[in-house]
Amino acid sequence: MQETTKIIRKINALRSIISTWRQEKKTIALVPTMGALHEGHLSLIKIAKQKADKVIVSIFVNPKQFSQNEDLTRYPRDEKGDRYKLSSIMTDLIWAPSISEIYPDNFSTFVIPQGCALSLEGEFRPDHFTGVATVCTKLFSQTMPDYAIFGEKDYQQLCVIRQLVRDLNLPLSIVSGKISREKDGLARSSRNLYLTTKERGIAPALYSALKTIAKNAKYEANLDKAINLAKKELLDAGFRKIDYLAVRDAHTLGPYIPSSKTDGRILAAAWLGKTRLIDNISL
Ligand code: AMP
Repeated sequence: MQETTKIIRKINALRSIISTWRQEKKTIALVPTMGALHEGHLSLIKIAKQKADKVIVSIFVNPKQFSQNEDLTRYPRDEKGDRYKLSSIMTDLIWAPSISEIYPDNFSTFVIPQGCALSLEGEFRPDHFTGVATVCTKLFSQTMPDYAIFGEKDYQQLCVIRQLVRDLNLPLSIVSGKISREKDGLARSSRNLYLTTKERGIAPALYSALKTIAKNAKYEANLDKAINLAKKELLDAGFRKIDYLAVRDAHTLGPYIPSSKTDGRILAAAWLGKTRLIDNISL
């Protein structure tokens, strides 16, 4: 019978395990998650297992990256199911601290990223990346990994974390994983659980709209025209509101200049009923 992966909830207990692994000269990879694990998360864990001797998956629904009107209380949670999945792929340790373990009373130190954190998600969710950068800095200092694996699904988050690690000289490497998609193209996400059956049928239109831009950008000197066509496609399909649908420089997330040699990235956030979906592809 397979062993059940150990869940650790206290920093002292975590530190003692990490220190043993370090003495044994084991390398460590961390996969930070908010739980409700799906195949997208598991694909990152597979990368982690290839990279390091020991794999830690953190499960923490971080209140500081949700604003007041967001879905913190209804965010899906399934620790039992998560533990079962992680045990089946033999993760070494689950780090699942309580909110008070991460943010004790009088917690007053935040990491406030600028640069690539300011646009796109940063405009619509102003404190989001401060919450993300603060919790990731803490997760890195708690687990002391050689590698941390992040998905391209949250492409801007990946850029913000790379910037954080570079700017603060944090001693770890960031590794990215490709987006895992359902058969119809919808990017896997814990938030897909919110969709009604009808909305689930409409949801792949987001990926189609991104592909429309990528396809038309090849022939259009004017990217705005390709973007407007994709916006129309998305609204016609039944999306309620588009927060952004944009082509950006893939590294800085600043303006994309077609004549330059840099890579482009197409990113979108749009509302389907009460659910906000995000997705992106390379140009
Ligand atoms: P979350 O639990 O949504 O905070 O995501 C935890 C990590 O899993 C982040 O690095 C996400 O980018 C990544 N992730 C989420 N969905 C996917 C997906 N469909 N494919 C690849 N990575 C994903």
